[in-house]
Amino acid sequence: MYEDKLKIKEVINAIGTVTFLGGNRISPEVLSSIEEVSKVFVNMKQLIDDAGCNIAKSMGVESAYITNGAAAAIVLSVASCIVKSKPGLKYKLPELGRDEKFVLTFKNQISEFKYLIKLTGAKIKEIGTAKDTSELSFKKALKKFADKTVAIVYFAFEPLRESLKIEDVVSITHSFGIPVIVDAAAEVPPIYNFKRYLEAGADIVILSGGKAIGSFSDTGLMLGKKEIIEIAKEIGPHSEEISNSRNTIFIGRTMKVSKEDIVATTVAVDKFLKLNESEFMNDMNTKCKEIIDILGNNTSIRIKKINPPWYFPRPVTIPRVEVEFNNKVDAGVIANNLKYYNPAIYCLVDKGKLYINPQCLRTGEEKIISNAILQLVDREIVGNNIDNFTGK
Ligand SMILES: *Cc1c(COP(=O)(O)O)cnc(C)c1O
Repeated sequence: MYEDKLKIKEVINAIGTVTFLGGNRISPEVLSSIEEVSKVFVNMKQLIDDAGCNIAKSMGVESAYITNGAAAAIVLSVASCIVKSKPGLKYKLPELGRDEKFVLTFKNQISEFKYLIKLTGAKIKEIGTAKDTSELSFKKALKKFADKTVAIVYFAFEPLRESLKIEDVVSITHSFGIPVIVDAAAEVPPIYNFKRYLEAGADIVILSGGKAIGSFSDTGLMLGKKEIIEIAKEIGPHSEEISNSRNTIFIGRTMKVSKEDIVATTVAVDKFLKLNESEFMNDMNTKCKEIIDILGNNTSIRIKKINPPWYFPRPVTIPRVEVEFNNKVDAGVIANNLKYYNPAIYCLVDKGKLYINPQCLRTGEEKIISNAILQLVDREIVGNNIDNFTGK
């Protein structure tokens, strides 16, 4: 059995829909949806087109395309905007030859995914300061770089705080005839968030398929303007041109999506759109409350429910439990020890505090986590003690 070969050890995920813990759980509906398609051959171009039409219709957007994750969707969207500005580059990317292409981003929108834009061959021009961007400096930068700029990439982390409002970014950028791509990969739920940026006029909005949407971790979505999405298909993984017995493939081939990814994502999107948001939030709040009820009586612990600052695992709508320990106990050491619990527990630590995110917890896991923390606190773990311990 593969269990023996791969030593799969389930862990308790109190961090969120993060890639390093597997993204999410796949629902039975999504899992069973791929059974049939996994046994047959299909016309992939047709399948991904049909799936895109289906998703666009159910989400109420102009066009949709399934990608190999949101990170790939960023790269493919930028590549599409490069090809939009000069169709012949479709055969060259990431080489730009004599052309120089810029993508503008905002310095204060920090994202580890930003540098991936360079995979397209484009250069990144960061606008504004680490703190903020003024409308004036944005307009100035656009004026200066307009002829070489193929897109703006806007990293949407609600609440947007010091960022220029998406509405203003769109109206200024569009006055130069340049498209706006919004990375909103993990901004849902609330469900409405995927539409918010399109309604503000963004040309493309990117979502991760493998987070709250509930498809496989290697799926994502490009939503928005048909014109750009049609180019993405042209340079996407299922595009090939055959002439003179020679096959040409494109940059998107490095971001392949399988037939199973396509079917799973179509089904997952439908399920996600039917999510009962108030029920979901009630469940999140109940899990937080149970943790607080268990840990709240311990005098070595200060505990509260918070809505996290913007840089925490997204989306910020989901409340977290913040745990602060007395001086003798280090939150980082507690978190390290929790990884040696049976089953292993993963929590986030930031600035000396430990955070529990209920998003990916099964009912009952909130109790396991709370009791494990109590055990550690009672032992007054001070060193980096990695003994196995268990609540069982
Ligand atoms: C997770 C995430 C991505 C990458 O998404 P994948 O689907 O894992 O490729 C990109 N941007 C943001 C803001 C994210 O949260």
